[in-house]
Amino acid sequence: MSGKHTGRCACGAIQFEFNSDPTFVADCYCTDCQKSSGAVMSTYFSVPASDFKLLRGEPKSFTYVADSGNKLDRNFCPECGARVFTDKLQGFPGTVFVMLGALDHTDEVKPPIMEIFTKRRIPWTKELDVPQYLARPDAA
Ligand SMILES: [Zn+2]
Ligand SMILES: [Zn+2]
Repeated sequence: MSGKHTGRCACGAIQFEFNSDPTFVADCYCTDCQKSSGAVMSTYFSVPASDFKLLRGEPKSFTYVADSGNKLDRNFCPECGARVFTDKLQGFPGTVFVMLGALDHTDEVKPPIMEIFTKRRIPWTKELDVPQYLARPDAA
């Protein structure tokens, strides 16, 4: 029934759950994260697609070409427009990247383990004490 972790968009039309505890958590400063969220960066984490269950709603997907050149689908709530998760990222089959802010309990997930696309960092943001990558890390 109810997964260990649950989340939703701003209006609640999209709701999801998953059971695994995310280990890959990143701050991303890439251009499309900035444009799609309207924020200076986005924090997201990965969940195996097999564990990610949509409980409610039909997200609207939009295909981006990321700074890395890879295509990916950003999934938004068609009602409130909130960006909820990313999937179909080329090179990461079977992985869903969930926006941290979409969680019902944002403290359930560990802090970021890296910051990526820092070449797009807004100068007044402070670096976290984790590995910094100017673009996409080779390992992730
Ligand atoms: Zn919504
Ligand atoms: Zn990004």
